[in-house]
Amino acid sequence: MYRGQTFSAVVLAAGSGKRMGTSVAKQYLPLLGKPLMVYSLEAFAKSPVDEIILVAAPGETAYCRQQIVEKYGIEKMPRIVEGGQERYDSVYAGLQSVTGNYVLIHDSARAFLTEEIIFRAMDAVLGCGAAVVAMPVKDTIKEAGADGIVSGTPDRSRLWSVQTPQCFETELVRGAYGKLMGQEEIRVTDDAMVVEQMTAHPVRLIEGSYENIKVTTPDDLLLGEAILKRREMTVKREEKKV
Ligand code: C5P
Repeated sequence: MYRGQTFSAVVLAAGSGKRMGTSVAKQYLPLLGKPLMVYSLEAFAKSPVDEIILVAAPGETAYCRQQIVEKYGIEKMPRIVEGGQERYDSVYAGLQSVTGNYVLIHDSARAFLTEEIIFRAMDAVLGCGAAVVAMPVKDTIKEAGADGIVSGTPDRSRLWSVQTPQCFETELVRGAYGKLMGQEEIRVTDDAMVVEQMTAHPVRLIEGSYENIKVTTPDDLLLGEAILKRREMTVKREEKKV
């Protein structure tokens, strides 16, 4: 219960992570000795969210229960549901189990989520009903055709790189996903897009962090280890001061 409302986190870990090029799905890859997906589960377990729903790949729920939730002692005992072929199938499956008034949808591949971002996201969604964590883009972005010829350069000052958690009133996002799943052709790459396309509700961007990266390729694992080591050093320095 946070400010009189209940919150659920849907943590997505049902992808195959093809771009990582490993035989093990990326959510299970070790990062400083702990599977990648454990980090965001721990962040939500420490936060004020009331329940965690872990979406695992079909056939992997028992493994996740034993080797992730029980082995690493994740509090709030996440409910584990089976995901689907595409990310939106997994989100839809997770949403069916949500009991909170608000839901934070998060990619487990974004392992460096902090409690600070979770708090910011919770406060924002309480105020506006649809809040998505994002950061301003650093690079100039081009639009180009399949032939590689540039067709335009959008104004960089208006461009944001979208992260997770993406947070919504549960009924709003559940209704939007319900409509989406009834469509013949589905082309969405994040949850905000579903709300943008299926409802008239405005979606607000809120500040995330440049460290809240999505682990996608092997380079990201090295970067991730550096982020975690720096955080460990900061904690040790703080402890010394006390
Ligand atoms: O593949 P990508 O990195 O974009 O996936 C983003 C997140 O969505 C990952 O945490 C992945 O585990 C999850 N996902 C899922 N079900 C799918 C595809 C992706 O839960 N079918």
